[in-house]
Amino acid sequence: MNLSELLNQGVTALSAALGSREVSAVEIATAYLDRIEQAQPELNAFITVDREHTLRDATLADSMRAASPGQSLAGIPIAQKDVFCAKGWRTTAGSHMLENFIAPYDSAVVQQLNKQGFVTLGRANMDEFAMGSSNENSYFGPVKNPWDLSRVPGGSSGGSAAAVAAGLAPAATGTDTGGSIRQPAAWCGISGIKPTYGRVSRFGMIAYASSLDQAGIFARSAQDLAILMDVISGHDPRDATSVDRKDAPCAKELDKDIRGLRVGIPKQWFGEGLSAGVKIVVESAIQELVMMGCECVEIDLPMSEQAIPAYYVIAPAEASSNLSRFDGVRFGHRAAQYKDLAELYERSRGEGFGPEVKRRILMGSYVLSHGYYDAYYLQAQRVRRLIANDFERAFMLCDVIAGPVAPTTAFPLGSFGADPVQMYLADLYTIPVNLAGLPALSIPAGFDAGMPVGLQLIGPWWQEARLLQTAHAFQIATDWHTKRPALYSGLKP
Ligand code: GLN
Repeated sequence: MNLSELLNQGVTALSAALGSREVSAVEIATAYLDRIEQAQPELNAFITVDREHTLRDATLADSMRAASPGQSLAGIPIAQKDVFCAKGWRTTAGSHMLENFIAPYDSAVVQQLNKQGFVTLGRANMDEFAMGSSNENSYFGPVKNPWDLSRVPGGSSGGSAAAVAAGLAPAATGTDTGGSIRQPAAWCGISGIKPTYGRVSRFGMIAYASSLDQAGIFARSAQDLAILMDVISGHDPRDATSVDRKDAPCAKELDKDIRGLRVGIPKQWFGEGLSAGVKIVVESAIQELVMMGCECVEIDLPMSEQAIPAYYVIAPAEASSNLSRFDGVRFGHRAAQYKDLAELYERSRGEGFGPEVKRRILMGSYVLSHGYYDAYYLQAQRVRRLIANDFERAFMLCDVIAGPVAPTTAFPLGSFGADPVQMYLADLYTIPVNLAGLPALSIPAGFDAGMPVGLQLIGPWWQEARLLQTAHAFQIATDWHTKRPALYSGLKP
């Protein structure tokens, strides 16, 4: 296999090539950095690229391998969403507020990856503080969709998804608070997983809505997702919501037979709101699962239509509290001119945050204020419980749930500038999963008018292995996950 072919393969192929000494970590990193340089002016998938830092990591990975050949992942490159603190790397969360913040320590996810010798290729672009569905809210400019540069890649982890789809990285990290891994994975035609809440430590991950945020992975296949999930999972006492469990590694169980698996089809998710083109693709993917020996059962998720209103109370409420630390004193941008402390806060926050972030802080402060707390926040928490109950009942009838990721394919840049609520509505199939804390993934399932469509698989708590088995079996039977955007097939090498 020549270098160019190798770069288009995933983690598994790279690991084999590194293991047989066909290629070094430095050669692989250099080649991806060259690709990033070619694509960056157009795609804008990265906020920060630091060639020297990356090559230092790669040199270290090569010596790790030389010292202990058992390090099977050392030298695999990865793009990091710019929300994970990484020592010595500028960590902006897509915000002017943190434009000059160099993280003094590693987040848990970065630490786990570094321990295995992964090489950071750069810091992936994202919506400011992970708020958005299109990556248009980044202070560093929008990311383009590699399948069609006039369209968005999805958000908020749009840079991570675009980088993997365009062949600029074999894998990337992401975070998913209401769909920010699954939706950009679907819209860029790659695989992405959001684990069970509590499976991956949130330590060092810049918080948006702490009771919903989960770190996860983008890659080219379910097999690669499984390998990376095993690296980043695990208990961490530094995150009070991290759960101490000893689950079998996902990668070990990947080949388990899925015949007889009961696949739940939510009857509310295929009606009004779902575009005809996406519906056809998702339904034929489900037919494929049936042909592979799965059994379909209809399930009822009556409360899921309340998920968006509940989420847009809970997430902004938590965000308004989390983002209060960015005041120009302890963290973040400080205004150049102010006459007293109050004005220092006002100006620093006024200048540092973008419009969507301000909107959410306002909404969050409002729903938490005295007199409105009971009417909005408490009520939203009740709805959240009912949504989780729906899923719990559904999982008595089925083993996994299958459905769409998003109601449409990627929309043109600038579609919702004037109407953010329209954009919020696009998260209707992903948000219920975060409210319930469940694991879910998106895998490529076909195309609608040339744009990729994802299939969402949702599992019971802690059943990532089952989800990945199902996705892996689907990818053995189909080749959607191997399709690459023509625009980026000519990158060198
Ligand atoms: N689009 C949703 C929001 O704007 C979800 C974002 C996310 O998952 N980080 O809040």
